[in-house]
Amino acid sequence: ELDDLIRAIRHDYPILGDVVYLDNAATSCSPEPVVEAMVEFEHRYRSNVGRGVHRFTRIATQRYWHAHEKVAEFIGAQGGITVFTKNTTEAINMVAHGLSWTPGNRVVTTILEHHSNLLPWRSLEKQGVTLDIVGIRPDYSLDMDAFRKMLEKPVRLVAITQASNVLGIITPVHEIAALCREKGVLLLIDGAQAAPHMPVNVSSIGCDFYCFSGHKLGGPTGTGVLWMKEPLLTPLMQGGGTVESVTGDDVVLIQGYEQYEAGTPNIAGGIGLGVAVDYLRKIGMDTIHSHEEDLTSRLIEGLHTIERVRVYASGNPETRIGVVSFTVEEMHPHEIAQRLDEHDILVRSGHHCCQPLMNALNLPDGTVRVSIAHYNTREEIDLFLATLKEIIAGSSPGNPLRS
Ligand code: PMP
Repeated sequence: ELDDLIRAIRHDYPILGDVVYLDNAATSCSPEPVVEAMVEFEHRYRSNVGRGVHRFTRIATQRYWHAHEKVAEFIGAQGGITVFTKNTTEAINMVAHGLSWTPGNRVVTTILEHHSNLLPWRSLEKQGVTLDIVGIRPDYSLDMDAFRKMLEKPVRLVAITQASNVLGIITPVHEIAALCREKGVLLLIDGAQAAPHMPVNVSSIGCDFYCFSGHKLGGPTGTGVLWMKEPLLTPLMQGGGTVESVTGDDVVLIQGYEQYEAGTPNIAGGIGLGVAVDYLRKIGMDTIHSHEEDLTSRLIEGLHTIERVRVYASGNPETRIGVVSFTVEEMHPHEIAQRLDEHDILVRSGHHCCQPLMNALNLPDGTVRVSIAHYNTREEIDLFLATLKEIIAGSSPGNPLRS
């Protein structure tokens, strides 16, 4: 039944007819309803939002606003403010630079972080903010003992990913949130890799900020989200659309998301993002998670059977998403990805914007990364495994065909 569902879904992604797309952690493909919503905006009611009274602007404004509501619901937000951004990177920077810091403030983050959840915090060091980094254990899980120790001293904010874009590890954000609440520490969660693959509920987690990328869950490129429980941030930009009133000596900001979205936003993108989350919800995030877990287990088991392959994955299906990194003895990750591309299989190679993690794992060349989405199939995983096996066999040191 699930196989039938996936087959039906694949009709909505014509791009998947040409290739085996396994680079979903970088960006995923948009289903037709998302593309159609964007085209409809262009063809039928293109106009600006939040200003004017004519018919086009009324439709655009209503749909753009409604998209925010859909996204808030998608992440289980009860209240708070849901702001549309360009991507996760912009969302995290808005928090790092929208809070006011004093010298001696501490931020705690982890070795699992993407550069986008590291560099914004590092840039605060010139304001006297110190940064502490929690490591991982040999099974790649977060070192919670070290984390707890770090919270023994005063901390202003914890910034942590909910799922690693290299190792696929899911971090215990509920436990972390409880610790943060107990100590009065702000918590930012980078949900870029989690939101597309599992049910997320910011109310039950109890975080202060939740950031993710629309383009990684089937939304248009150039879309992302910053949800915040309270409007603690100073907007980084001001201008059109952000104010209730401007008088000689006073500016009153709008109380909703508008105060954080200065200027004309990515309207078609935002409306498309609303359609993307509807699309995923219709399939069901639990269904998506279990389908992807089935493929991930198959992938990891398959990789373990191929000679010269080393897999960097946890054995526990409960704590992982479908992002799997591996290396092949005596072959550069880019060579593997290049050879797979020649067979129409698209994967990522390199450091995945996670150089500190790569250094900690002693992998200066990075890894090959396979990342799964709900529209991938068992057949695709099997084809990937068979092709990889062939590529590796063809390059074995004793093989005369080795290039
Ligand atoms: N955080 C994580 C965990 C990611 O995987 C990514 C994208 N690879 C980002 C942040 C940055 O996302 P974006 O490029 O959309 O800003």
